[in-house]
Amino acid sequence: SIQNKTDIGLIGLAVMGENLALNLESRGWHVSVYNRTVPGVEEGVVERFINGRAKGLNIEGFTDLADFVNSIALPRKIMMMVRAGSAVDELMEQLFPYLSPGDILIDGGNSNFEDTNRRVAVAESKGFLFIGSGVSGGEEGALNGASIMPGGSVAAWQEVKPILQSIAAKAPDGTPCCDWVGPAGSGHFVKMIHNGIEYGDMQLIAEAYWVMKRLLDLDNEEMADIFAHWNEGKLRSYLIEITTNILRHKDKAGGYLLDKILDSSGQKGTGKWSVINAMELNMPLGLIATAVFERSLSAQKDLRELASRQFPNKHTQAVYNKPELVKEIYAALYASKLVSYAQGFAVLQKASDSFGWNLDLSSIARMWRGGCIIRSIFLNDIAAAFETEDKPKHLLLAPYFRDEIKGLLPGWKGLVEQAMREELPVPAFSSALNYFYSLVSADLPANMIQAQRDYFGAHTFERKDELRGQFFHENWTGHG
Ligand code: NAP
Repeated sequence: SIQNKTDIGLIGLAVMGENLALNLESRGWHVSVYNRTVPGVEEGVVERFINGRAKGLNIEGFTDLADFVNSIALPRKIMMMVRAGSAVDELMEQLFPYLSPGDILIDGGNSNFEDTNRRVAVAESKGFLFIGSGVSGGEEGALNGASIMPGGSVAAWQEVKPILQSIAAKAPDGTPCCDWVGPAGSGHFVKMIHNGIEYGDMQLIAEAYWVMKRLLDLDNEEMADIFAHWNEGKLRSYLIEITTNILRHKDKAGGYLLDKILDSSGQKGTGKWSVINAMELNMPLGLIATAVFERSLSAQKDLRELASRQFPNKHTQAVYNKPELVKEIYAALYASKLVSYAQGFAVLQKASDSFGWNLDLSSIARMWRGGCIIRSIFLNDIAAAFETEDKPKHLLLAPYFRDEIKGLLPGWKGLVEQAMREELPVPAFSSALNYFYSLVSADLPANMIQAQRDYFGAHTFERKDELRGQFFHENWTGHG
């Protein structure tokens, strides 16, 4: 047993939990850690951690849940870093008997926000507080500073704020990348959209790479130089930076490792969740949807090989003006990224309105500036756009971004045209461009869709003339 109660408890010593425990300790907090024990295993996860990376540190290990809970000062703060899903519910049920009123449970895993909605209510009904927090940045972020997006029982925020902000990454201006998101599952919802945006950014960078490689025949070093150059400007971001490093990375057996990696990507589901939830909210999130679908199509490698033999690519081997095309790729990448963030933030706004979360979009943009995978300097501009008195109705209508898009449009459009002529897929660049053209079209052919719906299903339609506002059903066939 220990004399002084600890500041915080952490459950789940896998990759994330271990590193978060070390991060907490390094910021001066006294930490209790717990991991379930597998019967029959001599030295468990806890002993290995305490005798290994945590040796000599201000971290106490427990294999008994009651002892662990009792070691923590009131009101207790207990962070769970366990596998998302039923494990969180099981753990909560095990914890409840040992907790005192006002104790705070923090779920730092990638939980579904609807589960978090439910868990906040369950915990509060028993007199406890519950925070569902997205944590982004992987292993490195967990150890050195993550982007942390907490939401749930608001009364818990002042208690956990100093702790969570201390282990968060710092944005370039020194602000911690952790602030209160809102009630219920809003923190996990925001983390989900973050991950969706990450899918979009990755697909966009992959398309930029592919155009450089396939239309310009650039080698990996030339491409790395271009990305490195972009990383000095408005596209400066973690993902652009690692792309440069990936392009230059050599294989031990010779050549570049990237060229030997199978073009079939996996996914764990947060991109898909973003799209499903956008659909539930009737909001367009086409760029992220395209990124998710492209991962699925990439995984159908055998089918693509078969199809490629039946429809050989008609690449013209045209000679392109390299500096010109590189500028167009830049325009397509930057403009499409703007579309993707505009769509993502619009989904956040709709969720906020629908669920009564009162989300602060500029605060969310600021939280993503450090620690997380989508960190970038461009999030400063997004935060600024949402901070203005006159909140823009849409990110692309904020004066700064409207002007950016106007400048980028010729190159963006030109690139998609050329790629289509060369039969080179740029699904995310073109999805973004089509969204943009639809967005800026006061008129769309949805009158035809309404007519068809009314024709076969009597779904009625609204008129756009002086009778607008009323619904009509037409006898289209003239039959009684
Ligand atoms: P993980 O593989 O997702 O989870 C393993 C941990 O969960 C282990 O400590 C495991 O204990 C524990 N666990 C599983 N089922 C349990 C149960 N029924 N009761 C109690 N404990 C249980 O670990 P992780 O990769 O560190 O991730 C932790 C959470 O953070 C997940 O929600 C993950 O999605 C999220 N996350 C991960 C990353 C990342 O880069 N890895 C980034 C952000 C967020 P045992 O050792 O006994 O099996």
